[in-house]
Amino acid sequence: MSTSTKLCNTAAKLMPGGVNSPVRSFNYVGGSPKFIARGQGAYIYDEDHKEYVDYVNAYGPMIAGHNNPSVAKAATAAIASGLHFGAPHRYEVELAQKIISCMPQIEKIRLVSSGTEACMSAIRLARAYTKRPKIIKFNGCYHGHSDSMLVSAGSGALSAGAPSSPGVLKEQAEHTLVASYNDIASVEKLFEKHPGSVAAIIVEPIAGNMGFILPQPNFLQKLKQLCHAFGALLILDEVMTGFRVALGGASAVYNIAADITILGKVIGGGLPIAAFGGRADIMDLLAPIGPVYQAGTLSGSPIACASGLATLEIVTEHNFYAKLHKTSSQLVHELCKVMHAAGIDFQAHNLAGMFGFFFIKDPVVNFPDIRAKEAELFKKFFLHMLEHGINFAPSPYEAAFISAEHGADEIKKTIVAAVSFTESINRA
Ligand code: PLP
Repeated sequence: MSTSTKLCNTAAKLMPGGVNSPVRSFNYVGGSPKFIARGQGAYIYDEDHKEYVDYVNAYGPMIAGHNNPSVAKAATAAIASGLHFGAPHRYEVELAQKIISCMPQIEKIRLVSSGTEACMSAIRLARAYTKRPKIIKFNGCYHGHSDSMLVSAGSGALSAGAPSSPGVLKEQAEHTLVASYNDIASVEKLFEKHPGSVAAIIVEPIAGNMGFILPQPNFLQKLKQLCHAFGALLILDEVMTGFRVALGGASAVYNIAADITILGKVIGGGLPIAAFGGRADIMDLLAPIGPVYQAGTLSGSPIACASGLATLEIVTEHNFYAKLHKTSSQLVHELCKVMHAAGIDFQAHNLAGMFGFFFIKDPVVNFPDIRAKEAELFKKFFLHMLEHGINFAPSPYEAAFISAEHGADEIKKTIVAAVSFTESINRA
């Protein structure tokens, strides 16, 4: 029995599903997860010493590659000064300055410990600022696991949301309205149905939790126009896209300045940190200068700030995102070529450090476009690639990520494995 399988059996007795976050469990694809012992550059190594080209990258943070020497050095230096003080420190000032210098729509920022916490706090702030109860989110977008965000579309297109998890109260879900991604008419209808009660729209500017779906031209601009016409705020959730698709995130790519922007993942370089920031008149409602309560024992951890800062120094280097984009473009181009040559329905898209694919022929613009047939083929693809040393996330609903360490060698290995996948499918 492999070391991973042994650890997995022990873990299953100690932790629900043997994991601390559900997607890690392989529930979706079958088989048992690999336990990872270490990472280096573009690669991770499991407890049985098997090497994988890593396209998960910790679900986004590791843009500089695993065990990047300057990130490790910065984190180690911060550790040497003491782990945490519960008092202000220089690293948080430097990280805030760096983020604000790259994202002009953020005038003031608050650091927290997870994307969930940042989204939850941003929503509280939007409700307090507008004195309105309702939030519009999009079917298939993920904003962490706070109660008001674990909501799916209700039965009728215009009904209030319904809890998507037991334990979330119906009364709470009722204040979350669910629209269809890339469908402006669905948002207009919600504003018209609930006049004067929508506090904010929260949206992933590029959807990364239903595969990888780019916004249609002007979709984000129209959302902003609607928000301002109806007196609501626009919250861009850039936990995934921030510092991943460009230095200024999707906000810069699509030239859209949100009222509140949410960040996570890359800004900690692999340590737990996230943030929300925006217009000063909104942010100044936060405690201690305003009445909106928000706090955290480990908020702005010095080590996480130091690791994040070192990561942001790396991504600021000349041509960093252009190089990432070149690599991800070549990868998706070659993947498409291999699949199409084998007669497999397939599409793939990318932007700098992020990409995704569907085993679907027709364009995918929102959640209902992802169908069951795709899921079956995805499982076969995932298991084949893993067996051949290529690590994707074990779910068709996750985006994929490259780091600065991915290059021609990793693409070549991926394409060799993809070719053998198509051969296995066509033999079957
Ligand atoms: N928002 C988006 C867009 C995310 O992708 C995620 C996590 O993947 C979150 C929020 C929640 O972040 P965290 O897992 O750090 O709580």
